[in-house]
Amino acid sequence: MSSRRFSETEKRLRLSSKRIEEERALLDAADVLAAFANLEPAGVEAFRQLHLDFIPAVWWAKSNWLQERNLLLKAWRAGFPADLTLKLTTARLFGVAHILASAGLPAGIPNPSFTAQMITDALDNFDGRSLIGLAPNRKILAPDGTDITKEVKRRVESDPQVWPYQRAVLFLHVEPWRAKVCQECGRRFVADHARRKYCSIAGEGGSRCSALVIKRQHLDWGRENNWGREKSNTKKSGQRGVRPIN
Ligand SMILES: [Zn+2]
Repeated sequence: MSSRRFSETEKRLRLSSKRIEEERALLDAADVLAAFANLEPAGVEAFRQLHLDFIPAVWWAKSNWLQERNLLLKAWRAGFPADLTLKLTTARLFGVAHILASAGLPAGIPNPSFTAQMITDALDNFDGRSLIGLAPNRKILAPDGTDITKEVKRRVESDPQVWPYQRAVLFLHVEPWRAKVCQECGRRFVADHARRKYCSIAGEGGSRCSALVIKRQHLDWGRENNWGREKSNTKKSGQRGVRPIN
């Protein structure tokens, strides 16, 4: 193989392994999205600790997360149609998180939406106010008192961070057959093939629905079929267990 061919092959291999990695990351994100769809208030702290970078921290202020979860459930039921997908991926909270991050503020502050609005107000018409004789807007100051308004404005206008949550929602919009509700426990899960009916999420006892259902089906089959032995009323003469007629 020529060295050029070799490097092309290597490049292709690298590309395909990158694609596999991206696909795996998407599936992982979709699994976390399913966990978020199944989230109840009692599970919030554990979810937050486990998935720190999945959604912006502003989601946990007040009951922001609950509204988003309810919208997600609606999309899950409807098969991730375009309008709900757009609503989910462009939620106001992503914008709030971007503004707070641009101003260097911690995402866990108590009133994120209000603070983001104050920052936006300070930035509005930042350059234009003096031109029409208006008093300048309030400045945004760093903790050491430096005026960082210009810097914050530049950062707010730059591309916002893309969150795994947004990627996962888009992924399920493209492959909506994956978004399933388990027929055993009723929780949302992401399927690996279209015919899957039961989740593989470990339940309270540590057992998984797919394994539980297989076990139960074996038991049912066993009971119905006399554990593989022939039933007495179907026995024919000459077979094992039938007393020969003298
Ligand atoms: Zn299940």
